[in-house]
Amino acid sequence: MRAMILNAPGSALQEAELPIPTPNPGQLLIQVHTCGVCRTDLHVVDGELTQPKLPLVPGHQIVGAVVSHGAGVHTAFPPGTRVGVPWLGHTCNHCRYCLTGRENLCDNAQFTGYQLDGGYAEYMVADERFCFPIPAGYPDLQAAPLLCAGLIGYRSLMMTDDAERIGLYGFGAAAHIVIQTARYQGRQVFAFTRSGDTQGQQFARDLGALWAGSSMEAPPEPLDAAIIFAPVGSLVPVALKAVVKGGTVVCAGIHMSDIPSFPYEWLWGERVLRSVANLTRRDGEEFLALAPQIPIQTQVEAFPLTSANEALAALRSGKIQGAAVLVVDQS
Ligand SMILES: [Zn+2]
Ligand SMILES: [Zn+2]
Repeated sequence: MRAMILNAPGSALQEAELPIPTPNPGQLLIQVHTCGVCRTDLHVVDGELTQPKLPLVPGHQIVGAVVSHGAGVHTAFPPGTRVGVPWLGHTCNHCRYCLTGRENLCDNAQFTGYQLDGGYAEYMVADERFCFPIPAGYPDLQAAPLLCAGLIGYRSLMMTDDAERIGLYGFGAAAHIVIQTARYQGRQVFAFTRSGDTQGQQFARDLGALWAGSSMEAPPEPLDAAIIFAPVGSLVPVALKAVVKGGTVVCAGIHMSDIPSFPYEWLWGERVLRSVANLTRRDGEEFLALAPQIPIQTQVEAFPLTSANEALAALRSGKIQGAAVLVVDQS
């Protein structure tokens, strides 16, 4: 099979011919149709996440069709079923996090496209307990970004409780989905982009943002909560200053540059600063049930599998409006 692989962090992905993997007991062999490109993939390729398997097939927003099963009992996904594979690929089932419904924090978790080969390839294997059915109304291309941008965004939004006025710092793949859920829930959204990104600001307004501007600007009114999607630590004090007493700032990315020091006064008043890590299967079930009700529409820019480096470069330079998705040619 064709695959794009990472041989060493800090280098470009290489096109390679690999054997089609064999599913172990409990695993599905999946023919990949599409795979979303996530900022986390950039952190892996750049070496900011330091524990990848090597060589690695990246990619953790996979939509494909079940080809076959490994040994064992299978009920959920007969061959031909369309499934989605997310970032969380394996948990231990016995650590204190797994035992208390917090499998996203599992001490021995393994992640798709990081410790497990992912979807920048024609085929992959995945533990079926961590796969999701894809809602019927979503074509392969539009479904892919739901699996990380959508899921992590959903978990981040849930962490803001009942906040009415929400700031989104960084208006990329996750934010363009979160805003649709937030608006559906009757919340007001304020979107912050890189300064000068007037296209991104217009995109946010088109999706229902009450206000859109540069992250260096103060919002026109105080926020009840903020979610930071951009991997930029200096946005943390900026967002804290923008939220009211009792407000929450959620850092949604897996990696961020260092956070500069700031006066305690900006945290005082029971403001909460927290991160969101990974996802639980429950997040996935809830979000994929909710998405077609809203209905969430994803805006995607498609790239052929072999253009994965171009897709990553476009994401890095902020050129993608919505989400980048790799399309695997089935010919
Ligand atoms: Zn991701
Ligand atoms: Zn565990």
